Amino acid sequence: MSRIQLLSPRLANQIAAGEVVERPANIVKELVENALDAGATRIEIDAEQGGVKLLRIRDDGHGIAQDDLPLALSRHATSKITTLDDLEAVASLGFRGEALASISSVTRLTLTSHAHDSDEAWAVEAEGRDMATRISPAAHPVGTTVEVRDLFFNTPARRKFLRTEKTEFSHLEETVKRLALSRYDVALTLRHNGRTIHQLRPAERGIEKEKRVASLLSAEFIDSSVHIDAEAAGLQLQGWVGLPTFSRSQADMQYFFVNGRVVRDKLVVHAIKQAYRDVLYHGRQPAFVLYLWLDPKLVDVNVHPTKHEVRFRDGRLVHDFLFRTLHQALGSVRPQDTVASAP
Ligand code: ADP
Ligand code: MG
Repeated sequence: MSRIQLLSPRLANQIAAGEVVERPANIVKELVENALDAGATRIEIDAEQGGVKLLRIRDDGHGIAQDDLPLALSRHATSKITTLDDLEAVASLGFRGEALASISSVTRLTLTSHAHDSDEAWAVEAEGRDMATRISPAAHPVGTTVEVRDLFFNTPARRKFLRTEKTEFSHLEETVKRLALSRYDVALTLRHNGRTIHQLRPAERGIEKEKRVASLLSAEFIDSSVHIDAEAAGLQLQGWVGLPTFSRSQADMQYFFVNGRVVRDKLVVHAIKQAYRDVLYHGRQPAFVLYLWLDPKLVDVNVHPTKHEVRFRDGRLVHDFLFRTLHQALGSVRPQDTVASAP
């Protein structure tokens, strides 16, 4: 019988990394969310070979203080919450303090940052370790750049599960689309192997937002959708729902955000499906980009770091609101409108 031993921090992080980092797209999500949490207004993403060889995420956020740099890479180290109360009303995208530790345990990572209240920039490096030991001066404008190379270089078994460059990049691009749809106020650039794939300017007015949606999804979607803007019982719903004429064979154009976070939730899916029930042919999928806003205390996002699940305090209320709003919006295209029966 072996004796019980504590895992080394490195091994603990590699195990934890298995939950957060499956492919380059997951890394992009974590790093862009960190940039957004830092108040960035401009984020540039560079990828090489589907993101496996290189990912570089550069932001103009508030940066990280020199003393905090090594800490940023250690596990359960976060600047975003300190108490359980904070957790219950968490407004930031991150709060677990796990992403950088996990990512740096399975890549070669360089974190360079210039804090807004400092005159200098500093960099730390980690190569398959959680704790960076060396900190060196660097040149960088206020903000942060995280460079991640050679995903899974030290865990060949995981590397084998990576797919082709094309597949990895399409996952990565999908992640960037979601993020770009979640924050219209932020300028976003995505380059792959030196080629610009998306270059999005900040969008404030409705028409600019529609332009962003059109450039990310398609102009046809915007042209054949109904604009939603509804409010009831403290719930707010905005966005666009595709007309039945724009239905898809796959559920590949369905974006739902809860308080700015992308969410894939059974209750939400069910409510939307019900609203489309009598206008879509069997087997066809609706296209939508929808934003639900509600008091953060009425929704629990602390379910799983990557599964996009949430738990609503009052699921029934949310379901009915979604169903009613969309059913009414689609009413204009419903041939012989009958009074909606509750699902
Ligand atoms: P979390 O986001 O859950 O706090 P992370 O491991 O993603 O955990 O990041 C750890 C900490 O590093 C963050 O709490 C934040 O203080 C800092 N940090 C990470 N990325 C950035 C960034 N781009 N700009 C400013 N601070 C950052
Ligand atoms: Mg984070």
